[in-house]
Amino acid sequence: MTDNDSGVLVVVEVADGQPVDLGKEMLGLARQLTENLGGTVTAVAFGAGLENIGEILIAYGADQVLINDNALFADFHAEAWLPDLSKIISEVAPIVVLIGHSEPGTDLAPRLAFRLDVDVATGCESIEIINGRPHMTRSCFGGLAREVVTFSKTPALATIRSKTQQALEPMIERVGEIEQVSSILDGSSLRTRVVSRETEKADGAKMESAKIVIGGGLGLGGPEGFKTLNEIAELVDGAVGASRAACDLDWCPRSYQIGLSGRTVAPELYIAVGISGASHHMAGCGNSKTIVSVNTDPKAEIFKSSRFGIVGNSQEIMPALAEEIRKLKA
Ligand SMILES: Cc1cc2nc3c(=O)[nH]c(=O)nc-3n(C[C@H](O)[C@H](O)[C@H](O)COP(=O)(O)OP(=O)(O)OC[C@H]3O[C@@H](n4cnc5c(N)ncnc54)[C@H](O)[C@@H]3O)c2cc1C
Repeated sequence: MTDNDSGVLVVVEVADGQPVDLGKEMLGLARQLTENLGGTVTAVAFGAGLENIGEILIAYGADQVLINDNALFADFHAEAWLPDLSKIISEVAPIVVLIGHSEPGTDLAPRLAFRLDVDVATGCESIEIINGRPHMTRSCFGGLAREVVTFSKTPALATIRSKTQQALEPMIERVGEIEQVSSILDGSSLRTRVVSRETEKADGAKMESAKIVIGGGLGLGGPEGFKTLNEIAELVDGAVGASRAACDLDWCPRSYQIGLSGRTVAPELYIAVGISGASHHMAGCGNSKTIVSVNTDPKAEIFKSSRFGIVGNSQEIMPALAEEIRKLKA
């Protein structure tokens, strides 16, 4: 760390020209960190056709926004982002770099750490500044314990789990600087190319932003069980997730997986159906406001984390629940 290092840099992913929710949440965290660390919050956005992104990121807490608008960045491609992002980080010289714990973020962060010869903590849930140094907290031992890590090198890189931080209320009157940066990338030097990209069709509410998430596990008995969960989710404007075991059996798309090696949700209501409550699963839904579970085994671990529990067969209870909701809505 040198005397010139200061502040926090946030790498914000962009989807359809808008910053993703996790980017806004990380800006909220960055603002808190700079209260202790001093310095400014710099947001960096890569993409193509990024029109109003600078103003949006300032409204959510950035002091400075660096925009790298280039057709080469239309789709995420870690190899293409690395030269520019490394250069930006070296010039800004932040103490902390925040990256989303998303598929692109977890691809990017270790490569970036290697290139910058610094350390990275992935899957962080909080960061505290102690004696001027960032201390990152994350799950370990399959979600059974928490560890706190800190590094001697600067900047400290951290990937942040979604829904662990609070985005600020946007303030359109906030002022900041917006700068377009030019790319140093030589497209011909790329060893890999994105040839095509297929987006998995997602019906209904997005899992991370849904107020109600219904998770299905092996206790559903087969892929048909997910049809009922999807019906209920549609009726209540919720989203469907799953345990890893259900995804492994192809009962539902892999993108449904909630947990340590899947997605993190923190809805108002999480309904766990036929899920045993393994720590690996709870790492992705344990922060839900209310957990309700349906399980045939009264001793199932999931009941320990649940506010309400129904001991019973999901194949009887879930169709009956769908029917009741339909009646209420009619
Ligand atoms: C490194 C690592 C990472 C992992 N990451 C994840 C992760 O991200 N997400 C994840 O979910 N898992 C993850 N796992 C796997 C995890 O440990 C569990 O194996 C998995 O969550 C179990 O899924 P399940 O609850 O659906 O199945 P089970 O554990 O088999 O539980 C099924 C439950 O359904 C109940 N049941 C049975 N029949 C019925 C019925 N008719 N009606 C109602 N209930 C019924 C049973 O009583 C049981 O409690 C990971 C494991 C490892 C080692």
